[in-house]
Amino acid sequence: MSWTATVLTLFPEAFPGVLDVSLIGTARAKGLWSLQVRDIREHGTGKHRTVDDTPSGGGPGMVMRADVACAAVDAVEQGGRPLIYLSPRGVPLDQDRVRRLAEGPGAVLLCGRFEGLDQRAIEARAMEEISIGDFVLAGGEAAAQCLIEACVRLIPGVLGAEASPVEESFSANLLEYPQFTRPQVFEGREIPAVLTGGNHKEISSWRRFESERLTKARRPDLWTLYEKAFR
Ligand code: SAH
Repeated sequence: MSWTATVLTLFPEAFPGVLDVSLIGTARAKGLWSLQVRDIREHGTGKHRTVDDTPSGGGPGMVMRADVACAAVDAVEQGGRPLIYLSPRGVPLDQDRVRRLAEGPGAVLLCGRFEGLDQRAIEARAMEEISIGDFVLAGGEAAAQCLIEACVRLIPGVLGAEASPVEESFSANLLEYPQFTRPQVFEGREIPAVLTGGNHKEISSWRRFESERLTKARRPDLWTLYEKAFR
């Protein structure tokens, strides 16, 4: 069975979304990965299939009910896949977690809405909470698409041989070096001569230097990790 993402959402129409374009979409058509989308509302309570209620203790907005969310989770054949709740309070997603997820059988992803999910559902199903960054989205759907896209591009055969993900940003706690392509001169700016000189040793040391310079300037947090690895 290929790598499979199962998404639980109140807005199934948001999928496949960006996951249907370019190489990621082609890979799904080829069967290199698959996507299952489940509507949480099917597990709503009462005649109106209610999925939310007002927050205990008061305050604005609504909270997704634990019984509804857990019923949606329980209806999925998990098959050894991690159960992830997308949440701004989760562990920030990084390339290392993406790589480990991509190497596994897939993921079951629960998308929150409103003010979030009743805490008891998170605990009762031992959900792994993952955030895609220190900002607040309106719902987990865009976050789930980010996570899935990042994983799928690492599945062997998805990017093709020429676009190997080995030497890119974060692979060794370094940001990627700057990229250039034709034309040779753009608005008076030239491609750095070393890149068009054909000396592969010089090219790779220029790229390493630029990666280090950028990482040091922009991401002191990554730079510290990178330096540690050489001590
Ligand atoms: N009141 C909550 C935010 C709720 S946003 C809080 O302050 O923590 C509604 C839903 O959007 C969340 O349940 C979650 O599923 C999703 N979401 C919002 N921001 C996110 C982020 N940075 N990463 C992952 N999911 C996010």
